[in-house]
Amino acid sequence: MNILVIGGGGREHALVSTLAKSRKVAKIYCAPGNPGIAAIAECVDIDIADNELLCRFAQEKSIGLTVVGPEAPLMNGIVDFFAANGLRAFGPTRAAAEIEGSKSFAKDLMRKYHIPTAAYAVFSSPDAAKDYVRQQGAPIVIKADGLAAGKGVVVAMTEAEALAAIDTILCQQAFGQAGSQVVIEEYMEGEEASILTFTDGYTVRPMVAAQDHKRIFDGDEGPNTGGMGAYAPAPVITPALLDTIIETILQPVVNAMTSEGRNYKGCLYLGLMMTKSGPKVVEFNARFGDPETQVVLPLLASDLVDVLEACIDGSLDNCDLVWHNRSAVCVVLAAGGYPGEYRKGDAINGIAEAEAAGGMVFHAGTANCDGQLVTAGGRVLGVTGVNDTVASAINNAYQAVAKIQFKGMQYRTDIAHRAQGR
Ligand code: ATP
Repeated sequence: MNILVIGGGGREHALVSTLAKSRKVAKIYCAPGNPGIAAIAECVDIDIADNELLCRFAQEKSIGLTVVGPEAPLMNGIVDFFAANGLRAFGPTRAAAEIEGSKSFAKDLMRKYHIPTAAYAVFSSPDAAKDYVRQQGAPIVIKADGLAAGKGVVVAMTEAEALAAIDTILCQQAFGQAGSQVVIEEYMEGEEASILTFTDGYTVRPMVAAQDHKRIFDGDEGPNTGGMGAYAPAPVITPALLDTIIETILQPVVNAMTSEGRNYKGCLYLGLMMTKSGPKVVEFNARFGDPETQVVLPLLASDLVDVLEACIDGSLDNCDLVWHNRSAVCVVLAAGGYPGEYRKGDAINGIAEAEAAGGMVFHAGTANCDGQLVTAGGRVLGVTGVNDTVASAINNAYQAVAKIQFKGMQYRTDIAHRAQGR
């Protein structure tokens, strides 16, 4: 079968590497892909916002399965468009992707179906929003309703910060339409974890739980990023806790989406907070998480194509999902300056040596410039180590990291410290 993967980051590189292992795959195309993906798939320069062009390409190349990485094409209805043209695509429809695309939709759904999450209210008027903040006090969390690339959330430790966030989102419209409403949430305290889940709209099959590291500096200091590393499995999610999460969150939310006429097929990403009163939802994403995918998929023993097809066909209950009993740790190498204004165009060296040292190197923000690999994004590479224990996986990842150099390179030295401490 020929496969098309949409996207061009570390997540898509991990997806393409895992798909390449499938006994069912003949050829993989990736739009737009990246220089790392180009080593195992044919990269095609098609705008991923252009459903029609992508669809025509898939028809021309007899693509049997399209796998959508990022949220934007999902919100742009690519899965609906492909289905209407007789093509199979893995991911939720436009209506189902709303669970990520609108935080107020997700919160209202959870309230209606009694799924545990932080208490909240939604406002479009700045004055009403500010009155609510003054009533509730700090800490409190202010979120732009729509997609804001992870930048639309302010965890305000003081009332003043919360009021300023309302001004930024509602008055200055810093996120445009995505900030036409704000969701104001109760502050939850606890450890966070992510559970990526396969679902065919009825059956849910969680992947191994992961934890990511959002802050730029060691010790969870400094500003938030897209994610500086991750590890799986996350021991904080015990088997008993996973049963509770399936029973109180995952199965109810998938059933709720079906009841609402938004049958959800694809990968549902659950962001969790383990509070004193049990696991609660921080967010849902309508896709594989990044960098979590870079640690979860290397642990998958089953054929990924079988699993993705079972999600599309509604036969996930008959599909074996088998995991290697190992650990994976991913260290993200970021460009100097990230997550602010960052450097670009710096030569990257040592990837072959890192791979020889046992690391899996996933490209996130790289480009080829006259035959030289250079930096081209905030998060440049994800380096994953896989081994029998978390300690040895940490060693593998950092031994591989030590082989890579580019000007301004920054990374955290404490990825997976929590797992090791347990
Ligand atoms: P991303 O896509 O980067 O995960 P997002 O914009 O979808 O971000 P959320 O995941 O909702 O936003 O929030 C980002 C982070 O803010 C969470 O990972 C969590 O650390 C913190 N956060 C969000 N909501 C709460 C809450 N109610 N209480 C405490 N912390 C929260």
